[in-house]
Amino acid sequence: MAHDDSLAIRVAPRTKVHLRDHDPADTQGLKREEAEERTQARWAEFAETQELLYGAARQSVLIILQGMDTSGKDGTIRKVMAPINPQGCDVVAFKEPTPADLAHDFLWRVHPCAPSKGMIGIFNRSHYEDVLVVRVHDLVPKAVWKRRYDAINDFERLLVRNDTIILKFFLHISKDEQRARLLEREKEPAKAWTLSPGDWIEREKWDTYQVAYEAALGKCSTTDAPWYIVPADKKWFRDLAITETILATLRPYVSSWREVLAERGTAQRAAIAHLRDQKTTDHP
Ligand code: AMP
Ligand code: MG
Repeated sequence: MAHDDSLAIRVAPRTKVHLRDHDPADTQGLKREEAEERTQARWAEFAETQELLYGAARQSVLIILQGMDTSGKDGTIRKVMAPINPQGCDVVAFKEPTPADLAHDFLWRVHPCAPSKGMIGIFNRSHYEDVLVVRVHDLVPKAVWKRRYDAINDFERLLVRNDTIILKFFLHISKDEQRARLLEREKEPAKAWTLSPGDWIEREKWDTYQVAYEAALGKCSTTDAPWYIVPADKKWFRDLAITETILATLRPYVSSWREVLAERGTAQRAAIAHLRDQKTTDHP
């Protein structure tokens, strides 16, 4: 497990992950107000980085969000992505597969949702459900889901080789925090619609889910498509950790995107100057 200097924990390739070793309430000593200020201080850089990514259109960015019910996938999208231009961002929520999905291989519905160059694609749940809920509920035989880890690594390698920058976040909450969030939502009439009895039924399989997550994180964290464990009991810590991890990943590309755009700007200015020299139009 490599900690580098980021708040999210990057899972080293081919490791045995023990989620119990990671405290979901960890804040690395940060206080709420301090963390919120630090997140806001990153907003301008995030907005500018996204604009450069979009303009240069050399890479695409795929952000995968996974976590137990109430772990904060929706909240992350709402809060972390707030500073960027919605035009540059596609969000895809993966629900139960349709009959057409089930009549194909498990990646069939996923590949068309991969972000185009210049775009940030966010997967709210993803192809990982096919080794998580599917494994926990025996929706396909073990022999079938076991092969999927390799298929996922191959698929993500294909995307990476086509200039996709992949970041995968596991929002790590505690079982107690989930209980508190479910009860809180139930009390609040405006939030209760997000709940279902299924949430309490799934909760009974908590430990089996943790084992399935440990396998997915351990087998599918690669150098090019790393998994990050994000302590997510504190929403403000989660938002800061994810914001900073995204920025740290994109920062090395920024100067190349600036160069692409500077060259394009120079070429366009020259073309306009040339047009003007021809004096064939009345442009100023
Ligand atoms: P939610 O994210 O609360 O809207 O719920 C979406 C539901 O779809 C969750 O219960 C997921 O477990 C389920 N789901 C997503 N992908 C799959 C899949 N490949 N197979 C079975 N269930 C899935
Ligand atoms: Mg749900």
